[in-house]
Amino acid sequence: MPLQLFNTLSGKLEEFSPAENNQVRMYSCGPTVYDYGHIGNFRTFVFVDVLRRFLKQSGWRMDHVMNITDVDDKIIHNAAAQNVSVEQFGRRFEDAFLADMKTLNLEPPEHLPRATDHIEAMAQYIARLVRGGFAYRTDDGSYYFRIASFPAYGKLSKKDLAGMTDGARVDLDEYEKDNARDFALWKAPRAGEASWQSSIGPGRPGWHIECSVMSMQYLGESFDIHLGGEDLIFPHHENEIAQSESLTGKPLARFWVHARFLLVEGEKMSKSKGNFYTLRDLLLKGHKASSIRYLLASVPYQRQLNFTFDGLQQAAHSVDRLRNFKLRLETAKLAGGASSALTAMATAAREDFRRALNDDLNTAQALGVIFDMVREANAAADAGDLKQQDAAQILAVLAVFDEIFAVLHDDDAARSKQAYADAEKAGIAAASPATAATLADEEIESLVAKRTAAKRTRDFAKADAIRAQLVDAGIVLEDTRDGVRWKRR
Ligand code: AMP
Ligand code: ZN
Repeated sequence: MPLQLFNTLSGKLEEFSPAENNQVRMYSCGPTVYDYGHIGNFRTFVFVDVLRRFLKQSGWRMDHVMNITDVDDKIIHNAAAQNVSVEQFGRRFEDAFLADMKTLNLEPPEHLPRATDHIEAMAQYIARLVRGGFAYRTDDGSYYFRIASFPAYGKLSKKDLAGMTDGARVDLDEYEKDNARDFALWKAPRAGEASWQSSIGPGRPGWHIECSVMSMQYLGESFDIHLGGEDLIFPHHENEIAQSESLTGKPLARFWVHARFLLVEGEKMSKSKGNFYTLRDLLLKGHKASSIRYLLASVPYQRQLNFTFDGLQQAAHSVDRLRNFKLRLETAKLAGGASSALTAMATAAREDFRRALNDDLNTAQALGVIFDMVREANAAADAGDLKQQDAAQILAVLAVFDEIFAVLHDDDAARSKQAYADAEKAGIAAASPATAATLADEEIESLVAKRTAAKRTRDFAKADAIRAQLVDAGIVLEDTRDGVRWKRR
């Protein structure tokens, strides 16, 4: 069976193969580098990595672009609050993101362009949109996309745009989720905020335009796959389509594939809800990078993933079982030769594993195939029926498995090192587990105050550790304009 993927654009499963030269041209929306990534973000990035690895295993070459969003409202405000440049501020969290990618065994894409390195290209693109009648300048020097000029607007998100008003605008990065409006391509400078000089005047780009411009620069006007989390369907990807296709008249991407959310207790894990764990939070609690990767990869991208510590524990157990099994096969003293039943079993497992992934990347089913193989092979080994060539065949299937899941190599301690080194530099030990029952209101208030103080002195590692401790204790923090609010979950 050839690879099938669920295409958000058509609303259907479709057979995928690259349009040209056995090379997959793929764009995935990358991180906004205003803070450490949380494991909800990494759920999507692990999905992208699993897909990328499977496409390679299928014999295709990759040309994959992931952008680094290093200009947005939060970055500009936070950088100003800390008296550092937007570039400096973004670079710090970009470095942290790249380190987290390594920790999770995410393969680096072929291109990782930064928004701030493409500002003039965006300005020139906006000028083309204006010349084409798809965008307009407002008196203050901002530019907006005119969605009434693009009749296909809404085709990805299947939004009913009946209530849409021509000329109604939105310029925040926090776009309204349900309302289609003319959106900002370029924002005129505001007092006290960072801005850039460009051929269309001073200002800064909106979020959506960077992906249209950078995808075109690195992949051409039309490419194979565009990826992101489900929250990006509207408005971000809808707006990318409008910006790109209005000018080119070509489909921006043939496949649009979106990962469903990672949830905590039924709610989306997100920065604004305060219910999040960064990768470092989990490593500092002693969880292994391999368990986290395994858990995130094990739930098919089309299903929501409910994050629990039980689930993480089970993932650790599964990885241990696989590693122990591999060691057993590598070290067992076995008779020479092969048993035809086990050779056939290994061949079938390899095919079933790939068949499961070809079926819309069904990682849960693929893991089921591997664990069935482990059970049968262990039983054969216990009974003394496993021969040298069987073991070699089964190890080869494990290698095929690990090209995708990448959890068998036991280098977890080394991969947690960076998180521990950062924490030690900041003078904190691993976040101590606490329970809601043991934290009185005064203790919570005191921790919240310590966190605020740590943030003020820019000791972010410490602030994050305190927040993680509070989240552990079932306390949700909300950073508001008037300070920090907390509540029990
Ligand atoms: P951001 O850094 O906020 O731009 O997000 C980076 C990626 O993480 C995007 O593809 C989002 O769709 C994705 N994302 C954010 N929150 C979650 C979540 N709770 N579950 C899965 N993906 C998420
Ligand atoms: Zn994007």
